[in-house]
Amino acid sequence: MDNDLTGSCQCGAVTFSVAAPALLTYACFCHSCQKRTGSAFSMGLIVPTDALQVAGKLSTWSRKSDQGVTHTRYSCADCGNIIYGTGESSPELAKLQAGLLEDTTSLEPEVYIWARSKQPWLTLPERARPFDTQPDNLMDLLQAAQAYRQGQ
Ligand SMILES: [Zn+2]
Ligand SMILES: [Zn+2]
Repeated sequence: MDNDLTGSCQCGAVTFSVAAPALLTYACFCHSCQKRTGSAFSMGLIVPTDALQVAGKLSTWSRKSDQGVTHTRYSCADCGNIIYGTGESSPELAKLQAGLLEDTTSLEPEVYIWARSKQPWLTLPERARPFDTQPDNLMDLLQAAQAYRQGQ
């Protein structure tokens, strides 16, 4: 899944590519993601911010998380699709919206976070080890993703 990380927003005004493999793919069931997507969960890729090349006009919006960390999201200025987001605590990493990729066929979350607000009808794969909330340390997420891949 790492060989063709290109995508675009719904209207096509914003296109992007990532010149590095994604660190991991996650699904998040937090209420904020449910609001943001208008759906049951969000799915994203964590990629190095400096490997992300975006063309087209973006608008930005920032909010403070419950932990007091400012998160900024970047959306298409025309259609409003969110493209990616960054947090001030780790600006070197971007959360890219997985559904924007040209090829989504091989996308599979390796890490599941905020499972405590997951809707009960949603059944996770048997080998998933969901986090109730979200680990503070990114290394924990990376390790969980690696364990998930190795379990395949
Ligand atoms: Zn657009
Ligand atoms: Zn979330």
